[in-house]
Amino acid sequence: MLHNWPLAVDVIVVGSGPGGATVARQLAKGGKQVLIVERGHDYRQKFYYGSYLGAVRYSERMTMLFTEEGLNVIAPIMKGGATSMFCGCSAMPPPWLKEKYGIDIETEANETIEELGILPLPENLRGKASTRIAQAAIGLGYEWFPQPKFMNPELCKRRTKGFDCSANCMLGCRCGAKWNAAEWIDEALAQGALLRTGVRVNRVLIEGGQAVGIEGRLGFKRFTARSNLVVLAAGGIGTPRILQNSGLKAAGEGITMDTTTMIYGFTKERGTGKEPPMTWSWENQEVGYMLSTLTDPWLLYPLAAVRKGLGPALRWLRWNKMLGVMIKLKDEISGGILPNGKISKPMTRNDNERLNHAYEVCRKILIEAGANKSTIFMRPFIGTHPSGTVRIASMLDTNLQTEIKGLYVCDASVFPESLGRPTVLTIIGFGKRLAKYLLT
Ligand SMILES: Cc1cc2nc3c(=O)[nH]c(=O)nc-3n(C[C@H](O)[C@H](O)[C@H](O)COP(=O)(O)OP(=O)(O)OC[C@H]3O[C@@H](n4cnc5c(N)ncnc54)[C@H](O)[C@@H]3O)c2cc1C
Repeated sequence: MLHNWPLAVDVIVVGSGPGGATVARQLAKGGKQVLIVERGHDYRQKFYYGSYLGAVRYSERMTMLFTEEGLNVIAPIMKGGATSMFCGCSAMPPPWLKEKYGIDIETEANETIEELGILPLPENLRGKASTRIAQAAIGLGYEWFPQPKFMNPELCKRRTKGFDCSANCMLGCRCGAKWNAAEWIDEALAQGALLRTGVRVNRVLIEGGQAVGIEGRLGFKRFTARSNLVVLAAGGIGTPRILQNSGLKAAGEGITMDTTTMIYGFTKERGTGKEPPMTWSWENQEVGYMLSTLTDPWLLYPLAAVRKGLGPALRWLRWNKMLGVMIKLKDEISGGILPNGKISKPMTRNDNERLNHAYEVCRKILIEAGANKSTIFMRPFIGTHPSGTVRIASMLDTNLQTEIKGLYVCDASVFPESLGRPTVLTIIGFGKRLAKYLLT
């Protein structure tokens, strides 16, 4: 037992991604004594932050986390959660959240857009090849738009070189232009919150139907903390695991992933790899997918492409000339977090139909943008938005409380269905709304 930590606080927040960071910051500002417990560490000052070595160091299973069906899940374990490795894209909460589930977080989202200055990158920073793809798509009748970003090029610290972000943005932002939820954890700490990193929470302590604290491990030691208010924000995979261990067996039944892939084609000109990720996008809400400009970082490309065969892997040598369009599917709830901790995410028939539709559109756009037809191929699936594992309307009420009094969830797990678009602004909206509710 550790004695230098308070045994009792007003609120315990588990996880420091956008969900946990928002709730912790808002509650600390509201005068609550908050303890944040995070499994990972703060890597922002490490020499390897933002490098390939860093991405391996702070991703669960060193980036080699796969579902039973072979989908590669990227799950960063660190202060700030997945926002260190996100592409910095922002999208409003989907309208169906209000229409179907009666949850209105538009005010909170708009307030965040103002607060963080979320805007598309200026025209000259969107990348020539990315803009060429967008123009080709627009020419074909698809209404691509400049993607709003949690990015402020003015904050770029490498002022001498200027803003030169590339696909490496996803390894961690070294220039300081991209917002990271860790910044809001820092703000919570400045307001008096406490942070314990390196603690893997195993379960919530429950007495007589009321949450009374958490239990986990700090290295080889047992770690406990007590509070009648516990907010789980350990992400779409971490939160259901904790709930299952706490006796809520329905947690993790089903998962959405916004299943993602990239369609690549080679051209004679410079490609999208050295340009900021996802500067232009298009949402096909009718069919259920999103397209955006994106290429795997240089060293990660062959690791993914080799699973498609030697030919695609060898095209690594021409990575510089590759045009990439990402498909993000609004996938159906399927599979889940299994009791043995593994993840299953099978594609359904509808998912495959959506994928085929999206693939055909990407192919047309890439050819129009100058890609050689015979070089077009699809990389293996990747999952960067594990969500919908502890859903509103099935396990949570609309205030995000579980059947256990005082036990709340606030992260991507709560989505009642796949967002099929960037998640972070919606998660922040949920966090601000929950904090307001708990403060009143
Ligand atoms: C490569 C990549 C690109 C992306 N791009 C975008 C984008 O452009 N725009 C966008 O909106 N979204 C993007 N996303 C998705 C987005 O980052 C996530 O959906 C979002 O961060 C999820 O927030 P969260 O609070 O649910 O969980 P997370 O951000 O996953 O945070 C959960 C935290 O809980 C901690 N944790 C887990 N288990 C435990 C435990 N047992 N005990 C204690 N702590 C625990 C983890 O270490 C982590 O810090 C991207 C994700 C990736 C990986």
